[in-house]
Amino acid sequence: MVFVCDHCHFELEAVAKPSQCPDCGKLGHIRTATAEESQAFQARKLEDVWHDPAPALAG
Ligand SMILES: [Zn+2]
Repeated sequence: MVFVCDHCHFELEAVAKPSQCPDCGKLGHIRTATAEESQAFQARKLEDVWHDPAPALAG
């Protein structure tokens, strides 16, 4: 399931709803993502978001 932090809008995937946001650390702000948010999250996961582009410009 996908969950969203209402405090910082961090999205995460977990089996059970976490009580604490892993991003901002707030307690009790995690809610279940809407179908729309969940779909957007899954679509984003398919993209190569882990690739860190090296800075092309120096100086
Ligand atoms: Zn948060």
